[in-house]
Amino acid sequence: MKKLMIDLDETICQGGYLEAVNDYLKTDYQYTDIPHYYVEDVMDDEEKEKFLDYFYQNVNIYENATIMPRALEVIEELAKYYDIYIVTAFVDKRRVKESSIMAKYKYEWIIQNMPYIDPKKIILTGSKNVIMCDVKIDDKVANLKGYGEIKLLIDQLHNQKYTFEELEKEGIRRVYDWEQIRSILIKESEEV
Ligand SMILES: [Mg+2]
Repeated sequence: MKKLMIDLDETICQGGYLEAVNDYLKTDYQYTDIPHYYVEDVMDDEEKEKFLDYFYQNVNIYENATIMPRALEVIEELAKYYDIYIVTAFVDKRRVKESSIMAKYKYEWIIQNMPYIDPKKIILTGSKNVIMCDVKIDDKVANLKGYGEIKLLIDQLHNQKYTFEELEKEGIRRVYDWEQIRSILIKESEEV
């Protein structure tokens, strides 16, 4: 069985980062207003520092996470064809100690929402680049570079800046939803 590594945030679920920022700033930003990878980049540096203190003490973004349409059903089906690892980064270098709480929140969300994933195959890390899987699905281009036969980039506003040619050079294919991922990967597994 081929090893399939799947990212969590903005790949399986849209975290509640935006809600946390809106609650903190008393604003009403929509995802379409924020082309940054980190939602809090709408703030200046000083405000961001205060927000980070507030965030790690008060917010579990997974309480408000929205699941990407069909993600959970498709991953459950893919588990028949692939050896699946959920690989998610939790280390925030700006708050090294405080960000440990994210490992707990992420682990708890995955075991609750994806009971078909072996808990031993939940990888909480800061170094996705050392994990060698045959197939990778992520919304961040840097996490898809390097090793891998099939690399699928989930289309998100923050990765619009990468052109088809730039992605092609790295062997990365842009995908738009989980139905498309399902058809690519099930077809691929049948060809083996
Ligand atoms: Mg992600």
